[in-house]
Amino acid sequence: MVDPFETIVHADPAVVAGLDHWRTLPIKQQPQWPDTTAVAAASAELASLPPLVFAGEVDMLRDRLARAARGEAFLLQGGDCAETFAGATADQIRNRVKTILQMAVVLTYGASMPVIKMGRMAGQFAKPRSSDTETRGDVTLPAYRGDIVNGYDFTPESRQADPSRLVKGYHTSASTLNLIRAFTQGGFADLRMVHSWNKGFAANPANQRYEGLAKEIDRAVKFMEAAGADFDELKRVEFYSSHEGLLMDYERPMTRIDSRTGTPYTTSAHFLWIGERTRELDGAHVDFFKRIRNPIGVKLGPSTTPETMERLIDVLDPDREPGRLTFITRMGASTVRDALPPLLDAITRFDATPLWVCDPMHGNGLTTPNGYKTRRFDDVVDEVKGFFEAHRAVGTHPGGIHVELTGDDVTECLGGSEHIDEETLATRYESLCDPRLNHMQSLELAFLVAEELGHS
Ligand code: PEP
Ligand code: MN
Repeated sequence: MVDPFETIVHADPAVVAGLDHWRTLPIKQQPQWPDTTAVAAASAELASLPPLVFAGEVDMLRDRLARAARGEAFLLQGGDCAETFAGATADQIRNRVKTILQMAVVLTYGASMPVIKMGRMAGQFAKPRSSDTETRGDVTLPAYRGDIVNGYDFTPESRQADPSRLVKGYHTSASTLNLIRAFTQGGFADLRMVHSWNKGFAANPANQRYEGLAKEIDRAVKFMEAAGADFDELKRVEFYSSHEGLLMDYERPMTRIDSRTGTPYTTSAHFLWIGERTRELDGAHVDFFKRIRNPIGVKLGPSTTPETMERLIDVLDPDREPGRLTFITRMGASTVRDALPPLLDAITRFDATPLWVCDPMHGNGLTTPNGYKTRRFDDVVDEVKGFFEAHRAVGTHPGGIHVELTGDDVTECLGGSEHIDEETLATRYESLCDPRLNHMQSLELAFLVAEELGHS
């Protein structure tokens, strides 16, 4: 008898050749590797290593995202702006997972719908930069492009792009994802643990509000248990990985042909998004990602026209497949109410149902007089509100949020109920890239989004 899982479907050679077509196209935001032989060796090594995620999981995520696009689920995507190798510790990973799980509980309870949990984690190591170089005093060096490319220290040695970092990026992603899988499959994410995720922060108001919610959930779970319900389902949660699909010398060798279907999947993460700076229609990134099966996100900033959006749909989602395409809008608090409705209006005239997700971070950056890159919590909140207002007005589904956050008590964004001000930023500013919401600001935001979801 033939075992269908043993059947290897060989890919069409044209499909495989297409995976390298991007090499002939204009490309942005790639490092200048000093040594092409070393890059080729790193690529070959990556290509021989096991996939980090499996095609079946990726397909399941696409199905989940399709539900969110229809308004039957909500996506919570969060994590660092830039993960670092040094930051891939058990404590930091656990705190981030905990914060995301807590936010998900708040959202699930508030919205009474499934929440898809996704980390900007286990591979978010490559960063686009506004300038190729950085100047301090009279020294100019290559810009920091994320730990998978070069080091943050401002020395010529550290800022030199180093291909061995590609392989280290893979291994750090693997160990991070392994711990995430252990946490979310091994009992730590059991809904009966809702209280324990909240330990250590009892004094602050968002946590007190969370405690109240956790008590209600406890009561409901106990009632259902007493009534004989089987809670195996509560022990595990699905948790997906994602990062910006930016660094082609990493993503290409991580792409494999699925033996079931002969289709290419990028196995570096379940979900990849194309950034605001690399989403040119005739550029390398769009060409590469249109050929892979993973669900794809595209960031849309305030200058996006309905025509660009329509062409992105045609290229990236020609079959109009639910769950395939996510638009992550990052308009800015002062712009979202003007810039988003025309795009939503236009979508009602196309035969497409992308998932709409709000990134309330990247349109709201500012630099303080004392030199910190920061964001105001109030602007983040205001953009989220504007996002919900726009969807309510047009009748489309607000399907998720995309946030830069950490589980630690950092002081990187201004405001929130701890009233972080410009002076306080210096006390614990740890991000190497964009400022993140801290644990408490993240939880506060979740309560606010839950309220909005309750209305929509
Ligand atoms: C990011 O998500 O960190 C980022 C750089 O976003 P954008 O492409 O929207 O600027
Ligand atoms: Mn960022």
